[in-house]
Amino acid sequence: MADNIKLEVVTPEKYVVSEDVQIVMAPGTLGEFGILSGHTPFLTTLKAGSLSYKDNSGIDRALFVSGGFAEALPDKVIILAESAERRRDIDLDRAQQSLDRAQKRIDQKKENFDYERARISLQRAISRIGIVKTSI
Ligand code: ATP
Repeated sequence: MADNIKLEVVTPEKYVVSEDVQIVMAPGTLGEFGILSGHTPFLTTLKAGSLSYKDNSGIDRALFVSGGFAEALPDKVIILAESAERRRDIDLDRAQQSLDRAQKRIDQKKENFDYERARISLQRAISRIGIVKTSI
């Protein structure tokens, strides 16, 4: 079995995860990527989505991450995200309200409407809701 790898997820506000894990799957802007111990070092930007990992007892975990960077080193993955929440910390009502707001802005297309901002906000809300509603 492969060695564990240290996963650290940090935002400007808080330390969200710091633990030894078996594998990490993260939402890169160029697509989802997986990291195991011994990976070739690389740096990439992140989009909003689910960061999942298998903890050191083999349990699948998921958290929401949005924006920022991921740095993979042979023995460590560092996620510096704009925001991140563990599944249990996601407020489903808040995400639903955020989704409704963004959807309304997109539907109304008012003057000075920033489509890209609304689209990214919608994406964050959909990802948060998706993580809460999946079984892991
Ligand atoms: P909202 O419109 O509800 O503020 P947002 O997608 O604009 O959502 P972010 O900019 O991603 O929010 O995050 C701002 C802060 O609020 C971060 O600290 C983030 O962890 C927290 N946050 C946002 N939405 C939720 C949620 N549904 N549950 C828990 N924390 C949240």
